[in-house]
Amino acid sequence: PGAQAGPPAEAERPAHVKRVIAVASGKGGVGKSTISVNLATALARQGLRVGLLDADVYGPSAPRMLGVDGEPGFGPEKKLIPLEAWGLKVMSIGFLVDEGAPMIWRGPMASSAVRQMVHDVAWGSEAEPLDVLVVDLPPGTGDIQLTLVQKLKLDGVVIVSTPQEIALIDARRAAAMFLKTATPILGVVENMAYFADASGARVPIFGEGGAKAEAVKLGVPLLGEIPLDVALRQACDDGKPVSAAAPESPAAQVFAQIAKAL
Ligand code: ADP
Repeated sequence: PGAQAGPPAEAERPAHVKRVIAVASGKGGVGKSTISVNLATALARQGLRVGLLDADVYGPSAPRMLGVDGEPGFGPEKKLIPLEAWGLKVMSIGFLVDEGAPMIWRGPMASSAVRQMVHDVAWGSEAEPLDVLVVDLPPGTGDIQLTLVQKLKLDGVVIVSTPQEIALIDARRAAAMFLKTATPILGVVENMAYFADASGARVPIFGEGGAKAEAVKLGVPLLGEIPLDVALRQACDDGKPVSAAAPESPAAQVFAQIAKAL
């Protein structure tokens, strides 16, 4: 079935969650998870109650990027209790399945796993509702993304792309899916936008200006440009998101700016 137009029923909203913002990309490897994790921690630094749902069921990266792992327990109403890291409530398929296990699920199974991670997790409570749930989507425009945008009331989506034409083509396809399902596109984040050489000059390794042009075409803001940055990569690998662990770093400041605009 094709995408249905119009927002989905109110009943599909996760309980005690005020806003749901998804982070999407057309292609894998463009930094969608890096952006999700850092935007979530930047939002938490603003004093908001924030959850991070790692919905990239075929390649969960939140456990590694946040340095958190464990088996979530059950709370009241048999809901899973999210793990906590860097001030975030976190749920990832990576907590529920062994790291080495292959994710050879068909679309409907993966979609149903994601819906459970949205609805059967105690994200907030009556007394302490979550201000925002950041959803790290799998790349592309497959079953899981469609299920989420059709069945969940996403308040908005942030599209991540590198400046490279091949990434932009796929980002355009993702944007078309969100437009078709009446999901507000909050803006575009250009990742790996440039590399600052020893003199501080910008080297446009993946090209220049493409994401900006795409944002203009979509009529949405270019939310920020994240440079290719060794410290950012290292921090991800070490499970220490720069937004929380090194908030004064240049990349963290861009994330803070973007979080303010969301
Ligand atoms: P995606 O979620 O789109 O597949 P990831 O966020 O997992 O992409 O990023 C892919 C790899 O690139 C990760 O190892 C990450 O640390 C690295 N990376 C992402 N953005 C940057 C950046 N701006 N500078 C350096 N490394 C980056």
